[in-house]
Amino acid sequence: MKLYIPFLFCGLSLSAQSGESPKNSHLSILSSIQDSVALETTIHKTFNPIWVDSLKILLPCSGVSVPKRTMRLPNAPRDYRSGIHRGIDFFANWGSPIMSVADGIVIRADHGYVEVPAEFRVNMLDASAKVGHTPSDIFNNVLLGQAIFLDHGFDLIPGFRTISIYAHLSHINENIKPGTKIKMGDVMGKTGNSGIRESTLGSRAGAHLHWEMILQKDEQEIYLGKDVSNPDLYEMLNRIFY
Ligand SMILES: [Zn+2]
Repeated sequence: MKLYIPFLFCGLSLSAQSGESPKNSHLSILSSIQDSVALETTIHKTFNPIWVDSLKILLPCSGVSVPKRTMRLPNAPRDYRSGIHRGIDFFANWGSPIMSVADGIVIRADHGYVEVPAEFRVNMLDASAKVGHTPSDIFNNVLLGQAIFLDHGFDLIPGFRTISIYAHLSHINENIKPGTKIKMGDVMGKTGNSGIRESTLGSRAGAHLHWEMILQKDEQEIYLGKDVSNPDLYEMLNRIFY
Protein backbone atom coordinates (compact mmCIF):
# COMPACT_ATOMS: atom_id res chain seq x y z
CA MET A 1 0.00 0.00 0.00
CA LYS A 2 1.28 3.43 -0.83
CA LEU A 3 1.21 6.05 1.85
CA TYR A 4 0.31 9.50 0.71
CA ILE A 5 0.71 12.80 2.45
CA PRO A 6 -1.58 14.95 0.33
CA PHE A 7 -1.26 17.98 2.61
CA LEU A 8 2.32 18.39 1.55
CA PHE A 9 1.57 19.59 -1.94
CA CYS A 10 -1.89 21.04 -1.51
CA GLY A 11 -0.89 24.26 0.17
CA LEU A 12 -2.15 23.03 3.51
CA SER A 13 1.32 22.68 4.95
CA LEU A 14 1.97 22.89 8.63
CA SER A 15 2.48 26.40 9.83
CA ALA A 16 5.65 27.40 11.58
CA GLN A 17 5.24 27.46 15.29
CA SER A 18 4.79 31.09 16.09
CA GLY A 19 5.82 31.14 19.73
CA GLU A 20 5.51 34.46 21.46
CA SER A 21 4.08 37.20 19.31
CA PRO A 22 6.43 40.19 19.04
CA LYS A 23 3.42 42.46 19.64
CA ASN A 24 2.88 40.89 23.04
CA SER A 25 6.50 40.99 24.05
CA HIS A 26 7.60 43.30 26.84
CA LEU A 27 11.02 43.61 25.23
CA SER A 28 10.80 45.93 22.27
CA ILE A 29 14.38 45.20 21.21
CA LEU A 30 13.69 41.50 21.11
CA SER A 31 10.53 42.24 19.16
CA SER A 32 12.43 44.04 16.45
CA ILE A 33 14.92 41.16 16.22
CA GLN A 34 12.08 38.67 15.84
CA ASP A 35 10.52 40.84 13.14
CA SER A 36 13.69 40.94 11.10
CA VAL A 37 14.19 37.19 11.39
CA ALA A 38 10.61 36.66 10.22
CA LEU A 39 11.19 38.92 7.22
CA GLU A 40 14.32 37.08 6.14
CA THR A 41 12.56 33.74 5.98
CA THR A 42 9.39 34.84 4.23
CA ILE A 43 8.93 32.68 1.15
CA HIS A 44 8.85 34.70 -2.03
CA LYS A 45 8.83 33.25 -5.50
CA THR A 46 12.53 32.50 -5.54
CA PHE A 47 14.78 30.66 -3.17
CA ASN A 48 17.14 32.76 -1.05
CA PRO A 49 20.56 31.06 -0.69
CA ILE A 50 20.99 32.88 2.65
CA TRP A 51 18.47 30.44 4.14
CA VAL A 52 20.95 27.58 3.73
CA ASP A 53 24.16 29.45 4.56
CA SER A 54 24.85 27.21 7.55
CA LEU A 55 23.25 24.02 6.21
CA LYS A 56 25.45 20.93 6.04
CA ILE A 57 23.95 17.66 4.84
CA LEU A 58 25.31 14.32 3.71
CA LEU A 59 25.42 13.19 0.08
CA PRO A 60 22.66 10.54 -0.21
CA CYS A 61 24.71 8.19 -2.44
CA SER A 62 28.18 7.49 -1.13
CA GLY A 63 30.84 8.72 -3.55
CA VAL A 64 28.37 10.44 -5.90
CA SER A 65 28.85 14.20 -5.75
CA VAL A 66 26.44 16.95 -6.82
CA PRO A 67 26.10 16.79 -10.62
CA LYS A 68 27.20 19.80 -12.65
CA ARG A 69 24.81 19.28 -15.54
CA THR A 70 21.90 21.72 -15.39
CA MET A 71 19.49 19.00 -16.55
CA ARG A 72 20.19 17.01 -13.37
CA LEU A 73 19.61 19.96 -11.04
CA PRO A 74 16.58 21.86 -9.73
CA ASN A 75 14.74 24.12 -12.23
CA ALA A 76 15.60 21.96 -15.26
CA PRO A 77 12.66 21.70 -17.67
CA ARG A 78 10.91 18.34 -17.78
CA ASP A 79 8.98 18.60 -21.03
CA TYR A 80 7.76 14.98 -20.95
CA ARG A 81 5.54 15.90 -18.01
CA SER A 82 5.07 19.60 -18.75
CA GLY A 83 6.91 20.39 -15.56
CA ILE A 84 10.01 21.63 -13.81
CA HIS A 85 12.56 19.44 -12.06
CA ARG A 86 12.54 20.18 -8.35
CA GLY A 87 15.42 18.02 -7.20
CA ILE A 88 18.86 16.63 -7.89
CA ASP A 89 19.47 13.45 -9.89
CA PHE A 90 22.33 11.44 -8.39
CA PHE A 91 23.33 8.77 -10.89
CA ALA A 92 24.43 5.63 -9.08
CA ASN A 93 24.30 2.02 -10.23
CA TRP A 94 21.02 0.15 -9.76
CA GLY A 95 20.84 -1.14 -6.18
CA SER A 96 23.27 1.36 -4.63
CA PRO A 97 22.55 2.17 -0.96
CA ILE A 98 20.81 5.50 -0.31
CA MET A 99 21.35 7.37 2.94
CA SER A 100 19.52 10.00 4.93
CA VAL A 101 21.05 13.44 4.37
CA ALA A 102 20.22 14.48 7.96
CA ASP A 103 18.45 13.35 11.12
CA GLY A 104 14.70 13.05 10.61
CA ILE A 105 11.57 10.96 10.91
CA VAL A 106 10.00 8.85 8.16
CA ILE A 107 6.61 10.17 6.96
CA ARG A 108 6.23 8.07 3.80
CA ALA A 109 7.78 4.75 2.78
CA ASP A 110 6.32 2.92 -0.22
CA HIS A 111 6.74 -0.68 0.87
CA GLY A 112 5.22 -3.19 -1.53
CA TYR A 113 5.45 -0.73 -4.41
CA VAL A 114 4.21 -2.21 -7.68
CA GLU A 115 5.29 -0.48 -10.89
CA VAL A 116 2.48 1.23 -12.80
CA PRO A 117 1.50 -0.18 -16.21
CA ALA A 118 3.33 1.55 -19.08
CA GLU A 119 0.13 2.66 -20.78
CA PHE A 120 -1.26 4.12 -17.56
CA ARG A 121 1.90 6.21 -17.12
CA VAL A 122 1.62 7.50 -20.68
CA ASN A 123 -2.01 8.47 -20.09
CA MET A 124 -1.10 10.31 -16.91
CA LEU A 125 1.51 12.32 -18.81
CA ASP A 126 -1.07 13.16 -21.46
CA ALA A 127 -3.21 14.51 -18.63
CA SER A 128 -0.27 16.64 -17.47
CA ALA A 129 0.09 18.09 -20.96
CA LYS A 130 -3.59 19.05 -20.97
CA VAL A 131 -3.30 20.77 -17.61
CA GLY A 132 -0.04 22.48 -18.65
CA HIS A 133 1.94 21.26 -15.64
CA THR A 134 2.33 18.09 -13.60
CA PRO A 135 -0.68 17.78 -11.28
CA SER A 136 0.57 17.06 -7.75
CA ASP A 137 -1.31 13.74 -7.51
CA ILE A 138 0.35 12.43 -10.68
CA PHE A 139 3.74 13.70 -9.58
CA ASN A 140 3.53 12.22 -6.08
CA ASN A 141 1.79 8.96 -6.83
CA VAL A 142 3.07 7.97 -10.27
CA LEU A 143 6.21 9.78 -11.31
CA LEU A 144 8.22 9.52 -8.09
CA GLY A 145 7.96 5.72 -8.19
CA GLN A 146 8.89 4.00 -4.93
CA ALA A 147 9.77 6.80 -2.52
CA ILE A 148 10.74 7.71 1.03
CA PHE A 149 9.88 11.08 2.57
CA LEU A 150 11.69 12.31 5.67
CA ASP A 151 10.50 15.12 7.93
CA HIS A 152 13.38 17.11 9.41
CA GLY A 153 11.13 19.33 11.49
CA PHE A 154 12.19 22.90 12.14
CA ASP A 155 15.75 22.10 13.17
CA LEU A 156 17.56 21.72 9.87
CA ILE A 157 16.93 25.15 8.30
CA PRO A 158 16.03 27.92 10.77
CA GLY A 159 12.51 29.22 10.25
CA PHE A 160 11.32 26.40 7.98
CA ARG A 161 9.91 22.93 8.23
CA THR A 162 12.08 20.82 5.93
CA ILE A 163 11.25 17.57 4.13
CA SER A 164 13.60 15.46 1.99
CA ILE A 165 12.39 13.08 -0.72
CA TYR A 166 14.16 9.99 -2.09
CA ALA A 167 12.54 8.69 -5.29
CA HIS A 168 12.78 6.01 -8.04
CA LEU A 169 13.95 3.45 -5.48
CA SER A 170 14.21 -0.31 -6.10
CA HIS A 171 14.11 -1.32 -2.44
CA ILE A 172 13.21 0.12 0.98
CA ASN A 173 14.67 -1.44 4.12
CA GLU A 174 12.13 -3.24 6.30
CA ASN A 175 12.66 -1.00 9.34
CA ILE A 176 11.90 2.20 7.38
CA LYS A 177 8.28 3.00 8.23
CA PRO A 178 6.30 6.14 9.06
CA GLY A 179 7.38 7.16 12.54
CA THR A 180 10.84 5.60 12.31
CA LYS A 181 13.52 7.97 13.63
CA ILE A 182 16.46 8.29 11.27
CA LYS A 183 20.00 9.47 11.86
CA MET A 184 22.10 11.24 9.26
CA GLY A 185 23.83 8.58 7.17
CA ASP A 186 21.39 5.77 7.96
CA VAL A 187 20.98 3.49 4.93
CA MET A 188 17.26 3.41 4.06
CA GLY A 189 17.02 1.61 0.73
CA LYS A 190 18.49 1.18 -2.73
CA THR A 191 18.53 3.16 -5.96
CA GLY A 192 16.43 2.06 -8.91
CA ASN A 193 14.32 3.47 -11.73
CA SER A 194 10.75 2.99 -10.45
CA GLY A 195 8.30 5.51 -11.86
CA ILE A 196 10.51 6.06 -14.90
CA ARG A 197 9.42 4.97 -18.40
CA GLU A 198 12.11 2.30 -18.67
CA SER A 199 10.91 0.68 -15.45
CA THR A 200 7.34 0.43 -16.75
CA LEU A 201 8.81 -1.38 -19.79
CA GLY A 202 10.66 -3.89 -17.60
CA SER A 203 14.15 -2.41 -18.02
CA ARG A 204 16.63 -1.29 -15.36
CA ALA A 205 18.01 1.50 -17.56
CA GLY A 206 18.20 5.05 -16.28
CA ALA A 207 18.58 4.12 -12.61
CA HIS A 208 19.30 7.12 -10.38
CA LEU A 209 18.26 8.66 -7.10
CA HIS A 210 15.96 11.64 -7.47
CA TRP A 211 16.43 13.66 -4.29
CA GLU A 212 14.70 16.88 -3.39
CA MET A 213 14.22 19.11 -0.38
CA ILE A 214 11.05 21.04 0.37
CA LEU A 215 10.96 24.05 2.70
CA GLN A 216 7.63 24.98 4.27
CA LYS A 217 6.56 28.11 6.08
CA ASP A 218 3.23 29.81 6.72
CA GLU A 219 1.17 27.61 4.36
CA GLN A 220 3.70 28.08 1.57
CA GLU A 221 6.46 25.86 0.32
CA ILE A 222 9.43 26.07 -2.00
CA TYR A 223 11.98 23.55 -3.22
CA LEU A 224 15.68 23.90 -2.48
CA GLY A 225 17.28 26.05 -5.18
CA LYS A 226 14.08 27.25 -6.89
CA ASP A 227 14.95 29.78 -9.60
CA VAL A 228 18.61 29.97 -8.54
CA SER A 229 20.54 29.73 -11.79
CA ASN A 230 23.92 28.23 -12.55
CA PRO A 231 26.73 28.56 -11.67
CA ASP A 232 25.36 29.94 -8.37
CA LEU A 233 23.05 26.93 -7.99
CA TYR A 234 25.81 24.36 -8.37
CA GLU A 235 28.10 26.28 -6.02
CA MET A 236 25.36 26.54 -3.39
CA LEU A 237 24.53 22.82 -3.58
CA ASN A 238 28.16 21.80 -3.62
CA ARG A 239 28.74 23.84 -0.45
CA ILE A 240 25.72 22.34 1.33
CA PHE A 241 26.65 18.69 0.73
CA TYR A 242 29.62 16.84 2.16
ZN1 LIG B 1 14.93 13.89 -10.78
